[in-house]
Amino acid sequence: MQNQYVAETRQFPDQIQDQTRAQSMSSKRILLVEDEFSIREMVSFALGQEGYVIDEAEDGSSAELQIANNLPDLILLDWMLPDTTGLELLRRWKRKDALQETPIIMLTARVEERDKIDGLDSGADDYITKPFSVKELTARIRAVLRRGSSSIENEVVVGPIKLDLNAHRAYVNEESINMGPTEFRLLEFFMTHADRVYSRNQLLDYVWGRNMYVEERTVDVHIVRLRKLLKPLNCDQMIQTVRGYGYRFSAKT
Ligand code: CA
Repeated sequence: MQNQYVAETRQFPDQIQDQTRAQSMSSKRILLVEDEFSIREMVSFALGQEGYVIDEAEDGSSAELQIANNLPDLILLDWMLPDTTGLELLRRWKRKDALQETPIIMLTARVEERDKIDGLDSGADDYITKPFSVKELTARIRAVLRRGSSSIENEVVVGPIKLDLNAHRAYVNEESINMGPTEFRLLEFFMTHADRVYSRNQLLDYVWGRNMYVEERTVDVHIVRLRKLLKPLNCDQMIQTVRGYGYRFSAKT
C-alpha cells in the first residue's frame, strides 16, 4: 500500500516533472491513518498531486509499523479505527520523543464539542470533520506545517519570552534566565500551548509523563518556582491561575 500512488504517477514522464516541481516546494512525508479505502484513495491522490509523499495505514498497528520505517512530517489520523481509536494513538504518539514535534490532524466524523476538546487537549494540532473537501484538507495541512516550521529552528517565542529548544535556554528580552530542567519543560509546554487552560493532572501527564508518580501539588511547587524566576522580568503574570481548574499561559493579561 505504501507510496503506491506516488510510485505509479512517477511512471509517467510528464507527471515526473510536475511531481518534481511540487516536491521541491513541499516534499513532506504524510502518514495517512484511515480504515476507509475510499477516503484513503481520495486523500492520497490529492496530496500526491500536491507533491507530498504519502504513507498509508488502515489501522493502528500498521500505522506503528509505518512510523517505525519512516518518520512522517505530519500525520492525518482517523478517529475510529478497527483496532484502536485515533485518540488513543494520538495520546501514545505525543508521548514519544520522536513524534513530539510531528503535527497531527484528526479526521473525524464526530462533531461533538467534547470530542473536539479531547482531541485538542491530547495534543492534536487541528482536526477536520468528515466529509471534507480536498481543498480544505490541503489548506489545513499547509497551515499546520507552516506553524510547525518555527520548531525546525527550534525556537519558541511568546511575548517577550524566547526558548531555544536545542540549547535548553530561556531568554526574556534577549536576557538569559537560568532555570532547572523541570521549570524549562513546564515553560516549554506552556509556551507551545499558550492560551489554553490545563488542570494540574493534565500538566502532570504532559510535562512529567504518565509513568511518573508525582502528586498534583508538585505542579504548584514548580509553578511557584517558575513565577519567581519570571517575576524580576515582569513575566510572572503570564502564568495565570484559573480558579477551580488549573493554569493557563498567556501573553494577554
Ligand atoms: Ca474510520
